[in-house]
Amino acid sequence: MSICPRCESIKIKCMVKAPKKNTWKVMICETCCYSWRNTESPAQTSRDKYPQGFTLTLEQISTMIVSPPIAKK
Ligand SMILES: [Zn+2]
Repeated sequence: MSICPRCESIKIKCMVKAPKKNTWKVMICETCCYSWRNTESPAQTSRDKYPQGFTLTLEQISTMIVSPPIAKK
């Protein structure tokens, strides 16, 4: 099973495939919106190799603030 390299979500899907011979595809995470091409280096495609300072957890995402804040009526 594939997971998002940035946030470990399993909610990922193929956004686009190469027009010929399936030489590459771009995946996108429906949780954090990170996208990556499957032919990029493991630092962009693998949770284990993704730069530690840029990883997210599902808990962090759920507590993020909206910026800029939504105006109140
Ligand atoms: Zn993600």
